Formats: sequence, structure tokens, C-alpha cells
Amino acid sequence: MAEVELPVGAKATLIRDGLQALIEALAARGYQVLGPTLRDGAIVYGEVAGLADLPAGWTDQQDAGRYRLERRADDALFGYAVGPHSWKRYLHPPIERMWQAQRTEHGFTVTVAEEAPSKFAFLGMRACELHAIAIQDRVFVGGPYPDAGYQRRRQDNFLVAVNCGEAGGTCFCVSMNTGPKAESGFDLALTELLDGGPHRFLVEVGSEAGGALLAVLPHHTASAEDSAAADAVVARTAGRMGRTLDTDGLKELLQGNPTHRRWDDVAKRCLTCANCTMVCPTCFCTTVEDHSDLAGQTAERVRRWDSCFTLDFSYIHGGSVRTQGSSRYRQWITHKLASWIDQFGTSGCVGCGRCITWCPVGIDITEEAAAIRASSGDSKETGHGRS
Ligand code: SF4
Ligand code: SF4
Repeated sequence: MAEVELPVGAKATLIRDGLQALIEALAARGYQVLGPTLRDGAIVYGEVAGLADLPAGWTDQQDAGRYRLERRADDALFGYAVGPHSWKRYLHPPIERMWQAQRTEHGFTVTVAEEAPSKFAFLGMRACELHAIAIQDRVFVGGPYPDAGYQRRRQDNFLVAVNCGEAGGTCFCVSMNTGPKAESGFDLALTELLDGGPHRFLVEVGSEAGGALLAVLPHHTASAEDSAAADAVVARTAGRMGRTLDTDGLKELLQGNPTHRRWDDVAKRCLTCANCTMVCPTCFCTTVEDHSDLAGQTAERVRRWDSCFTLDFSYIHGGSVRTQGSSRYRQWITHKLASWIDQFGTSGCVGCGRCITWCPVGIDITEEAAAIRASSGDSKETGHGRS
């Protein structure tokens, strides 16, 4: 029987073995399949060849400055929230060579790194992560000067979302309207059903490519019961968010409080370590470094992730603009939750909670924003300017 492509919006049920077939089908089509794996006591993204690579039976317990893996009572393959990695490490890698120069007899030649287009298949994307990629798309390719490397890495992706069955202790996607259900931007979206029946997935088709791939996998049309069970999974997760953030008037609130006392308070706790920006799926700032070898034969320029928490980041001739921790934290949260909207039309935060979990001293973006709201206008008497 000829395989019939399933239309966008179609729903089907896939048993556990069908997920193995999905991974194999993606690999057979030339995709590098990346998904959740267990490593170093965390769930991080890496190459996935089959179900055995997924974190079956594991979940994560998260709170401010705290992350622990724990065994689950079942064999859920996606029974966790999010780990320290985000997909930006593939689309916007931590270090990228821009060009390399080689000394020659008559001077030097420059070669520009031209990687082959990547065929990434991301398995297990959360709704907040789809939103984060949509935000980075606007940053990197939405303007008049698209980033060639990002464009190349982003152009041929196959995105398999998984609707969240667990809310992390630091998640607040409901507040940001970014989850826990994947609404768009995916090729296929799965909901893992662990209701005592067979271990299975409700699959929703999000694109033509998704419909074509699902057609070759062992599946059957979703029953009304399975669809209802998937809806119940998402509704239960939405009701269990670890955090909330009141976004009402938040942009005006933060932009209207540049000299609030809270910035000094947070600076007493903040180590300016930049962890929050490294784990954030939308932070995109970089710096550029030039390296040469000791023999003076080759030189290269690399771009690497940087952070508004470093002193160097705001260095211009004569010194840094943001010399104090208070001004660096204020810069980060105000950009993320306020001026990002002026710049790109959306908040820069998708409520994934990573910056809270991976902050070594447990500084919580939702708590800091709430503190400013609770005492708006409480400025330092003298105000040290805006440094
Ligand atoms: S808020 Fe936390 S993670 Fe971010 S720079 Fe300060 S100490 Fe580091
Ligand atoms: S600011 Fe924090 S909660 Fe928001 S997207 Fe970044 S890491 Fe996630």
C-alpha cells in the first residue's frame, strides 16, 4: 500500500518502537539526530542513535541554584523538564572560527570557514525551546544583515517537539505564554502517554516534512481517548509550574527603575559569573578574538559566546561602561524582559527557568522582577548615575 502523507494538524499514535523507527528514519535521510542524553549527572543534548541513548526512567528536580537527577517510577523517555544545554549550542555554537590566515612566501592568504550545511534533527524540543529558536531567528536572520553561519545551520532542521509532562521547579512558561504545549514551529510534536496502557506517543503533524516522515513509520490514527489523554498531560503540567512572572507592564516597570535599591541588593549576591547567560536559550552576545600560533605562520579569528556580566563586555576606549555588578544585573534583566521588546518585538525570556537553576547562588529572575514591582520607585537617595 502506498504511503500517504499525513496533513498538517493530523494526529496519530506511535508506540515506543515507532519512536525508534523515527530516529532511524531521520538518520537514513542524512540527519544528525540530537536529543536528550544522560551525562555528568545531568540531561544534556548529544547524538542519539536509538531509544537506548535517551534518559529512560529519569527526571530532574530543580530549584534556585539546585539540579538533581532522580529515578522515576516508570520508564518515561522524556520525563524531565530541561537541562543546562539548549539547542543554541548547535545553531549558534559557543566558539566559531570566522577565518584563518596562512603566511605565504609573498604575504598571506585568508580562508573563510565554509562548513557544509548541517542537517540537524532535534528530538525532544520543549515548547519554550521552539519559542527560543524563533527569537534567535529574529536576532540572527530577521534583520538586514543575516548571520551566514546561523542561516546555514538553521536551514535544514527537522524539529521533533515533546509536550511537557513534567513542569520543572523553576519553569514559568505559562507566564510567558510559551508552553507547555508546542503550538507551532515543529515538524512533529509528541506527547508521551504513560497512563497504564501501552507506552505510546500522541503525534501531531506540524509540517509537510513531518507528515511525510510520519507516513513511513508504524502508526495508527489517534483515537479520541488518546487525544484527550494528551490534552490532559499538558493541562496537568500547566497547573504545576514551579514559578510565575507577572508580565503586566513589566517593560515600563523595569525601564522606569534604573536607580532602584534592589540593584545593589542583587549585586551583593551576584558573582557576575555569567552562568545565567550561558544557559539561556536566547542570549546571543559574542566577542571576537584573534589568535596566532607561536611560529607566526597562522592566525585565526574566532567568535565566542560572551556575556553582559563580564567587565570586558562593555569596555570601550578608556574603560568599561558597567563597572559594578548592580549595573550588569540591571542591564541583563532589563534587556531580557524590557528593551528586548523594543528591539525584537517580543520578550527575550521564554520562561525555561535555566538561569534560576544554574545560578550558583540561586538568584531568581522572577523574584527580582517581583521585588522591583513590590517597591517601584524606591531609588537610591543620591543615585550613582547609571553606572
Ligand atoms: S545572576 Fe547568578 S548566574 Fe547570573 S551572573 Fe549573577 S551569580 Fe552568575
Ligand atoms: S532569562 Fe532565564 S528563564 Fe528566561 S529564557 Fe533565559 S534562561 Fe530561560
